[in-house]
Amino acid sequence: MSVSVDLDPVECYWRIHALPGAPPPRARHAILRRCLPRFAELFARHGARATFFVVARDLEEDAEGRALLGQLARDGHELASHTYSHPYDLVRLPAATIVDEIDRAHGLIGACAGAAPCGFRAPGYAVSAEIIELLRARAYRYDSSAFPSAAYYGAKAAVMGALRVVGRRSSSILDTPRVLAAPRAPYRPAAGAPYRAGALDIVELPMAVTPLARLPVIGTSLVTAPAWLRRHLVTVALRAPFFNLELHGIDLADAEADEIPPALVARQPDLRRPLAHKLAALDETLTAARAVGARFARLDEVAAEFAAR
Ligand SMILES: [Zn+2]
Repeated sequence: MSVSVDLDPVECYWRIHALPGAPPPRARHAILRRCLPRFAELFARHGARATFFVVARDLEEDAEGRALLGQLARDGHELASHTYSHPYDLVRLPAATIVDEIDRAHGLIGACAGAAPCGFRAPGYAVSAEIIELLRARAYRYDSSAFPSAAYYGAKAAVMGALRVVGRRSSSILDTPRVLAAPRAPYRPAAGAPYRAGALDIVELPMAVTPLARLPVIGTSLVTAPAWLRRHLVTVALRAPFFNLELHGIDLADAEADEIPPALVARQPDLRRPLAHKLAALDETLTAARAVGARFARLDEVAAEFAAR
């Protein structure tokens, strides 16, 4: 089992919901300064070394956040790339901009971690054959962007459609529906088709979804679902040979104490759940994993094991 945390800054959620202006200064660094230490404490309690997907611009703008991440790397966690500025439409940007997003992140995260990153997760889970080629050229071992869930895809399409109706525009984009047929288990992508199994020398590690219904088993669903549904999702996910649990920094936000603006809290049910509830949900999930004998590994370790098979 792997646990990974996407450290999207609050500003990303601002853009998804097409809120006007920018988040207030005090909320800007909430994810790294307030939420990240909560994850570190949770993982330490369970003896889990995790993978943190870093939006590298934060390393330039937030010395305190950078120091926390550097310490996590020294403690044995993995720092991987979540691009430089988290553009949701990465796959649609000009080639030179995509290269810049990947290379700037590569340099900054490598400097912080003391070793070059070898893993990548695309903003908004949308990856392309071009991006996979750029990662291979830079010796990345894995990409972890595929999210083959119709439930997630449908919910995203609905939110974007609703915003359009009221004349606003989310910065989110809808990926190709081909992702819905992507394998659920780790695979080598095909050349030119990242969501199809093939023979490239890089590993794709998809987000966990349940078999058949393909319900997402990610942090957002675990902290917002009723307890019976959460336990069911986790039990099913733990039956697979590999459980890739994806979380977000904001999953452990305390809206009030972390001064998350009410405009954002009004739009995200997870922000309206008390921190104690969300922490208990994740705590219970990691306890359930250990109870069935799951072994925690970082995504770079999983990719290396898969590649050696
Ligand atoms: Zn993200």
